[in-house]
Amino acid sequence: MLIDSHAHVDFSQFDGDRDETIRRANEAGLSAIINAGTDLDSSARSVELAARYPTIHAAVGVHPHDARTLSSGALERLAGLAAREKVVAIGEIGLDFYRDLSPRDVQRDAFRRQLRLAVELDMPVIIHDRDAHDEVLGILREEGARRVGGVLHCFSGDLEMALAGIEMGFSIAFGGPITYGGKKKQEIARRIPLDRILVETDCPFLTPVPHRGKRNEPAYVVHVVDRLARLRGIGFEEAALVTAGNAARLFGLTIE
Ligand SMILES: [Zn+2]
Repeated sequence: MLIDSHAHVDFSQFDGDRDETIRRANEAGLSAIINAGTDLDSSARSVELAARYPTIHAAVGVHPHDARTLSSGALERLAGLAAREKVVAIGEIGLDFYRDLSPRDVQRDAFRRQLRLAVELDMPVIIHDRDAHDEVLGILREEGARRVGGVLHCFSGDLEMALAGIEMGFSIAFGGPITYGGKKKQEIARRIPLDRILVETDCPFLTPVPHRGKRNEPAYVVHVVDRLARLRGIGFEEAALVTAGNAARLFGLTIE
């Protein structure tokens, strides 16, 4: 059993071979893929993919890069999408002060409004955080995100932040970067409680070793699990089973 807790199979990089990509994921043993929305269109596509492929479950949300597109009408449409079948989370949402593609105030506002929607709908959240660690934690705390929980996706903070997130009821997700370099991330993956760790690909980006330089895809989550298992000194099967169970619990999935 394996779950890729964060993918973007709706992106155009998969237009030529989406069916084959999902088939390879199934063959690799994945029982679920959470496809995260990045704007309204991609959220709608995510919901469509969930309807078409049994393995796919959707998250809907507006990424901080696109925060300026979250008008009040857009937030309403998002709430409508969130009510559709197989939508299991609000995301990805958060702050990105590394690329700053939307003004920071606009990012903060979009983040807070989507957190309020998640709390109102009682759905977990998928958090994107780049170079905004303290503010992300502060806003999660202020908006009562503890009530719904969620995941700090593609975690890039330090151990102290990971533990603060866990204390707030959040899980921590690791992807390709723990397979190449990333000593700090590896150390965190070794030390935090295993029952709060999720694995992900964030495909088509962040391709793990040994496929660096190629497009990433959900099947490659096996390489993330393999590295996590070795970091923790446990078997591959146990790492796969525990992380899949963690994701299933967070997103309310019933999987065999
Ligand atoms: Zn993503």
